[in-house]
Amino acid sequence: MPFFARQNRSMIGKLKVYNSLKREKEEFQPLHPPHVGMYVCGPTVYSNVHLGNVRTFLSFDVVNRYLRFLGYKVRYVRNITDVGHLSDTGEDKISKKAKLDKLEPMEIVQMYANDFHDVMLQFNAIPPDIEPSAIGHLMEQIEMTQKLIDNGYAYESNGSVYFDVQKYHKENDNSYGILSGRKIEDLLSETRDLDGGSDKKSPLDFALWKKAAPEHIMRWKTQWSDGFPGWHLECSVMSTKYLGEEFDIHGGGMDLQFPHHECEIAQNAGTHGKGGAKYWLHTNMLTVNGQKMSKSLGNSFLPRELMTGDHELLERGYSPMTIRFFMMQSHYASTLDFSNEALEASRKGYVRLANGMRLMHEMEWTKDDGELNEKQVEQIKKMCDNCYHAMNDDFNTALTIGHLFNLVKKINSLHTGQLKYGEIGEETFKRMKETFLGFTEDVLGLKVESDVDYKALIDTILGEYKDAKFNRDFERVDKLRAELKAEGIVVKDMKEKIEWAFEE
Ligand SMILES: [Zn+2]
Repeated sequence: MPFFARQNRSMIGKLKVYNSLKREKEEFQPLHPPHVGMYVCGPTVYSNVHLGNVRTFLSFDVVNRYLRFLGYKVRYVRNITDVGHLSDTGEDKISKKAKLDKLEPMEIVQMYANDFHDVMLQFNAIPPDIEPSAIGHLMEQIEMTQKLIDNGYAYESNGSVYFDVQKYHKENDNSYGILSGRKIEDLLSETRDLDGGSDKKSPLDFALWKKAAPEHIMRWKTQWSDGFPGWHLECSVMSTKYLGEEFDIHGGGMDLQFPHHECEIAQNAGTHGKGGAKYWLHTNMLTVNGQKMSKSLGNSFLPRELMTGDHELLERGYSPMTIRFFMMQSHYASTLDFSNEALEASRKGYVRLANGMRLMHEMEWTKDDGELNEKQVEQIKKMCDNCYHAMNDDFNTALTIGHLFNLVKKINSLHTGQLKYGEIGEETFKRMKETFLGFTEDVLGLKVESDVDYKALIDTILGEYKDAKFNRDFERVDKLRAELKAEGIVVKDMKEKIEWAFEE
């Protein structure tokens, strides 16, 4: 069934989300149902996308998928940062890389944007509905900067324009820190001024527009100077442009909560009096064997290294769906720890679900001599409802997978004949099929992986297996069984039929 074919189901229970802005779980009530606007901070495309980012984007892929599954009409906007994101040394990350590689900044942008899209596609992520870039919205950024100057929340200094944090804070119910919980007094005592030096009135102020140094290659002419926009500004501009002054969900990694998202809120409120998103969702970071994943610790690997196993910390490579399953096995707001054992367990877990998916696609309602068994019917209905309850609880994919595993047991019993179709009835069978495939494929975004047309191949070998068995050629039977096992397929020799399954 294609993705949108199973839409508009009636809701079971109510969706609750953890809103970082309120620091509590709230019922999700979109501003303009059935429409939902969601903005997620996208990657800065100056290097290959790292796994932390992949986790964030896969988490919001599931949010997007579940909202659509519930029948909402989602507009999902995720930007590409192609200018303005500065490194610790104050250099633009993209122009720094362009100089290093002797390429045009736009070549760097294109190369890594392509890589990013490619990786996300491998992980079966649905692309955003709009993917705006910062450079594509320079006019709007210049306009917002001017508006903030006009409103008295920004000032020009030596060709750069800064946001006046303390003035904004005083005039807006002391609201700088509303998202991150930071206190302005603490910030003042801890902030060292690395960005802009004496141009700023206060070290807390952040750049909306920066005057470019003579060697800076990415620059545009404005009323203030030849320069470039500050990083925080683009997300305020693009979310407002495509989702409105108020919209439903803003997402991103937890590391963006401060200062990036805090500054976004200040810019939005300073421009038009509204803070942007109603619900702020943040994903947690990755660890490796219990340690924070970071380049400097030498324990970070790229998505492709994880797929090929080409890294000293990895015992083997894992398929994109195994990695996707692995990420779904923890709640997006918890840390996620990579270890060979955990990945190996995920490989088995994914195979179990994939077997269930394969069977559910093949199995159709069949009338047999089973009699309706209320207990079985109740159990299956409950398992189906539980999938909704788990996802409704702040998109708890880990719990959802547990309920899907319970359904796999029922599917297997039905398939092997331990459970009769007649015992659960046609309606419950259909419900189970729709729920299981809906949650595994549409919501969790998993699919049965295969590089070749494995099914035809396996059927051929199984045909030979049956012949060999019929002819009592047991040497040949064992040989075929071993051949399939080497490919990760186990033969299930049942009383009335011979079946196969992926090895768990
Ligand atoms: Zn952003």
